[in-house]
Amino acid sequence: MTGIFCAIDAPGLQEAKNLVEKISGTGVGLKIGLELFVAEGPSCVEVLRKIAGDNVPVFLDLKLHDIPNTVAGAVRAAVKCRADFLTIHTSGGKEMMRAAALAAKEEAKKEGVAAPKLLGVTVLTHMDESDLEDVGQHPQAAEQVMRLAKLAQSAGLQGVVCSPKEISALRKSLPSEMVLVVPGIRPEGSDKGDQKRVMTPVEAASLGADYLVIGRPITQAKDPAAAARDIVLSLEKKAA
Ligand code: C5P
Repeated sequence: MTGIFCAIDAPGLQEAKNLVEKISGTGVGLKIGLELFVAEGPSCVEVLRKIAGDNVPVFLDLKLHDIPNTVAGAVRAAVKCRADFLTIHTSGGKEMMRAAALAAKEEAKKEGVAAPKLLGVTVLTHMDESDLEDVGQHPQAAEQVMRLAKLAQSAGLQGVVCSPKEISALRKSLPSEMVLVVPGIRPEGSDKGDQKRVMTPVEAASLGADYLVIGRPITQAKDPAAAARDIVLSLEKKAA
């Protein structure tokens, strides 16, 4: 069944702890992003895992992008957080992704922990045709996403982050074991916020998403636990 990561987009540890306490036990994983990680440091991962429970999946969304040696070092450091998923930018190139994949494997073995699955960030969804042209990339986002996703797979990454509208094409072109993680999800009737091309959880799951990233529809709901449970239930019904 398609899994859910709730985006713990909080400015500090106290706000994050409050949120994780509210949604704990609802069956959603935690996505910890740059805002919280930069503010509080790697120890925030362990603090939040203790509240959520050891069996709750953790996704460290650090979107690493630098020369291969530097990214490999950052991946080695991140392995100690024992996250299930870690993001790096595919536009850093094949050598960078290969170095990251090797570093994750080696460091996990050394530490005696499971290696995080490395996910490649393809094209950020705020970029339109003219933004892509400005930075010298293929102006058609769909083409650029496909190219980068195939590169990620050939470099040894375990999955990619993509928008809902790219799920079908990637599912057809990539091996089935490549994990597709999809933000830009809005349950029926919820506020779109700044997300432009949105899809409901059931639609995205039907197209082949493995995990959905959902933030505000859960975190800004009057009752975040109920919102999370409703989404999980809708996916369970679809899978039944
Ligand atoms: O609140 P919302 O559901 O829009 O949150 C989506 C989460 O997914 C945020 O943490 C955001 O940073 C992340 N994200 C995204 N679009 C991408 C990549 C990540 O919305 N292309």
